[in-house]
Amino acid sequence: MTALSEANLDLWRDLEGGDVLRICLTCGSCVSDCPASEADPPLLIRTLLRMVELGLEDNLLEEDTPWSCVTCSRCEEVCPMDVRPFEICLALRRWQCRNDSTRIPLSTTEIYQRGYTQPVDRVEELRRSVGLSGKLPVITADPELLAKFQAMLMEIDVIRDHDFMFKG
Ligand code: SF4
Ligand code: SF4
Repeated sequence: MTALSEANLDLWRDLEGGDVLRICLTCGSCVSDCPASEADPPLLIRTLLRMVELGLEDNLLEEDTPWSCVTCSRCEEVCPMDVRPFEICLALRRWQCRNDSTRIPLSTTEIYQRGYTQPVDRVEELRRSVGLSGKLPVITADPELLAKFQAMLMEIDVIRDHDFMFKG
């Protein structure tokens, strides 16, 4: 936990797009429409933006939730101030990797095992409500494709070096 006396108040300068954070109204619209806000743990993008503003560097380095973003851009569409939370989320991922080259977000294991990170129950219900099969066209539906996908991920050095996290 970062003590406020040790906060890096220039942290926003290290993040691409961080200069617009000061105009955020903290209205929360970006969270209310974010599908990853239902993930476990939830991605609370507004809270992350506040943490950047407060310079809570150590806490943000430990945060896994930026990796739950599915890059849908919904938060950008609803933001009344054009803060572009989605861009900050991606900038946070890059910043974390720049500061810790061994970092493996927990969501990477979920992607390896099933190809997605979000809870899909609601999507399955929505699909059925419009007459589609509840079954999602995800990569786990095709074991051959999943094996190819996993082999491709294992080509990445940091994943291969930590393969114990993915086999199980
Ligand atoms: S929607 Fe925009 S203004 Fe509102 S909290 Fe999110 S980033 Fe800030
Ligand atoms: S782009 Fe990411 S942060 Fe924005 S609404 Fe979509 S999942 Fe949430």
